[in-house]
This record gives sequence, C-alpha cells and structure tokens, in this order.
Amino acid sequence: MTRRFVIVGAGVAGATAAATLRSEGFAGEVLLVGDEPDLPYERPPLSKAWLGGKAPDIAVHPAEFYAEQSIELLTGTRATDLDCAARRVTVGGRSVGYDALLLATGGRARRLPGLAGNRVHHLRSRADADALRRAMVPAERLVVLGGGFVGCEVAATARGLGVDVTVLEMGAVPMERAVGTEIGQLFADIHRAAGVDLRCGERVEAVQQIHGGLLVRTDRDVIECSVLLVAAGVVRETALFEAAGVGCSDGVLVDAGCRTAVPGVFAAGDVAAHAHPRYGRLRVEHHDSAKRQGAVAARAMLGEDVAHDEPHWFWSDQYEHTLQSCGHPGGAGADEEVVRGRIDEASFVRFGLRDARVVSVLGLGRPQEVMAGRRLLRAGHPVTADQLRDESIDLRRVTRPAPA
Ligand SMILES: Cc1cc2nc3c(=O)[nH]c(=O)nc-3n(C[C@H](O)[C@H](O)[C@H](O)COP(=O)(O)OP(=O)(O)OC[C@H]3O[C@@H](n4cnc5c(N)ncnc54)[C@H](O)[C@@H]3O)c2cc1C
Repeated sequence: MTRRFVIVGAGVAGATAAATLRSEGFAGEVLLVGDEPDLPYERPPLSKAWLGGKAPDIAVHPAEFYAEQSIELLTGTRATDLDCAARRVTVGGRSVGYDALLLATGGRARRLPGLAGNRVHHLRSRADADALRRAMVPAERLVVLGGGFVGCEVAATARGLGVDVTVLEMGAVPMERAVGTEIGQLFADIHRAAGVDLRCGERVEAVQQIHGGLLVRTDRDVIECSVLLVAAGVVRETALFEAAGVGCSDGVLVDAGCRTAVPGVFAAGDVAAHAHPRYGRLRVEHHDSAKRQGAVAARAMLGEDVAHDEPHWFWSDQYEHTLQSCGHPGGAGADEEVVRGRIDEASFVRFGLRDARVVSVLGLGRPQEVMAGRRLLRAGHPVTADQLRDESIDLRRVTRPAPA
C-alpha cells in the first residue's frame, strides 16, 4: 500500500518538509495543502524589499519543483476538520486519509477590536504586503501601531518610499522584549533620525474614519493619517487541532523531533511550541527555525530519531542596518552580558554568557563576529568576558589553539 503524508500549511515549514521527504527518499504520496493562492513563499522580504517595490524572488522552490518531485500542491485550499483516530483530514471539503500529518499552519496577524476598514492594514501575507504597498503614498501619513520587528521594518521601508510615518509603541522603546532597553533605544534614535515620529508609551484609544482618511485617537493626541498598519503580533489558530485532541498551549506542543503526543501527527514552524533541547519549550517566529523544523519533522515522519537542536537564528533589516541574533531570544538565561564594540555607534556584538559559555549573540553591523559568536555558542566552547570584549582578539581563533 502506498503511504500518504499530508502537510497542512504551505509556508516555508510545510514546503521544506515536503522537499525533505523526497530528498530523504520517501516514495509515497505527498500532499501539501495551503489556503493562500500563491506557491509557497518566504515572508521576511514582505516588510522589506517586497514592500519597497523591489520584487525579489520569494518562492521557496521554483514553480516546476512540485511536479518534478511528485508533490501534490493544493493552493487556495483550507483544512477544516481533523479526525486523528481515523487518521483523516478534510481539505477543501474532501476527506483525505493520511499515514502521517504535519501541521505547519504558522500564524496570522493579530486583529484588534474596533480596528477595521479599508484603510486599516495587517501584514502577514503577500496579498497584505501588496495592499499595504498600494495604500502607501509619498508625503501622506502612515501610522504604525506596534513597534516590534514588523512595525519597525515597515516604518523603515515606508520612509525609503517618502511616506510620512508615525509609530505608536506602548513600551518604553521599540522591540524591547527581544533586544532590551539599550539596543531598543538605539533603534529609537535611528528611526527618529530617519524622520519617523516615534512615540513610545502612547496608547491608541480609538480610530475613526473621516473623509479621505483616518483619525487615530491616542491617550495623548489625535493623529490624522491616510493608512494605519496594525502590527500587534501573531496569533496561532489551534482550535481545529485542539478539538481533535492534539495538545496545544500557545501553539501545538511538540517534542524536540517535532512530534505531538498523538501518533502520526507532527507540527513545525510558527505554530509549534517546540521542546528545544538547549532552551526548553519555546515558540518562536523565525524563518530559520521554521525551515529547520520543517526538515526535522519530515525526517521524524519517516521514523528517524531526530531533534531540532540548532540555536535560534533571526535577523531584521531596518534602513542600512541588519540586526542578527543567535541563541535564546532576548538573551534570557545569561548570567553575564558582554558588549564588543559600541552600541551607541551601531557597531557591536552583545554576548550573553552562562557558566563561561556563550548562550546568546546579538549584533549590528558586525556579521563576521556574529558568525564567530554563533560558532562559539554551537561548540559550547569556554570563553572569558575579556576575550569577547577585546577587539584585538580574532573571535574565529578563540576555539583554535594559538599558532606555534
Ligand atoms: C512581514 C514579515 C516579516 C518577517 N521578517 C522576518 C525576518 O526578517 N527574519 C525572520 O527570521 N523571520 C521573519 N518573519 C517570520 C517568518 O516569516 C516566519 O517565522 C515564517 O514565515 C514561519 O513559517 P511557517 O511555515 O511556520 O508559517 P507561515 O509562513 O505562516 O505559513 C503557514 C501557511 O499555512 C496556511 N494555513 C493556515 N491554516 C491553514 C489551514 N487550516 N489550511 C491550509 N492552510 C493553512 C497559512 O495561510 C500560511 O500560508 C517575518 C514574518 C512576516 C509576516
């Protein structure tokens, strides 16, 4: 009997899983189901080059790949029902049996009550990015609600297009939870220097439609704008899975190998609350993790004894700056912080150390040193704060013996 593996969600996790099943030699049926009309694509450019009108190639695989690999790709098709006991899932109204099922449904942009209408935008999909791009007009005002990564990236791209931008962030600085106060303050300065009206600690109370625009009422002011982007984070829709008996808590609960507790059911990517061998249970929203978990899940579906244990990795592009991060998000779990370079000069790597080992690396403008830090983190090699701080020391050599 030919085995059938079904993947629900055709984002980077799902598409990578499908490709990995084939590269690992799976000869059965692979059905990849996604509710968006597009071929699987990568989301990071949506707030950056794509939104800026540069149209980079964002396809995860070329269009012909799926037919060449005998992967049945159903776009514009939603999974609506799941019966784990019978091993059946309903896709596009059709009940399909599976031997193994991967849940890779990602998340969707959080909606806030009372914030709707044709001038109110969210950003998760390519269609969202296209609609936002069309709505952004040079010299007209965009208000961004939320100074997290997506909000800040959109603000930077919009400034590049000549759009007037106000960012409303409830916290003290942008991206504070992920990067901390000092680096958040640096980004606040960068945005303000680029002309963004960044307001921290200011809360939106109501939005009113007026002729040709919107009035955004905050607890301090009234701002008139032509378009509002709500960038208030991501929510995961797990109700369908929970109803079918799959354990969920802020995401689908999976072990290190992306297996749920239900036989034959796996989860990967943004929807997965993954038990990471280094960091414990975490649900991250990073492109790299989604891709790696997709590959690990595919191998687990084939019965391999695998684990996703790679340190988390993400980046954010804002103006000419690329922030890169490796390890535990926000550097939590470190007992010491060391900065190499200067945060106030936007040229630094901040290391988190625990028991004289690197547990997190966050860098700006120093890609080679970030990569060296990533290698130190992976290797678990003992280092001192002085070695990391001292810029005369080549970090690439720290793990190697000194030349004789
Ligand atoms: C604007 C933006 C910028 C980003 N920038 C960065 C960045 O710079 N760096 C970084 O590391 N990460 C970035 N990310 C995060 C990164 O894109 C995500 O972590 C990644 O897309 C997660 O992949 P995924 O496959 O798990 O989920 P998704 O990409 O969300 O894909 C899941 C797919 O499943 C579909 N689906 C959901 N439910 C169903 C259903 N019932 N039936 C069928 N299909 C369904 C969804 O519509 C979607 O197409 C960014 C995200 C966004 C939105």
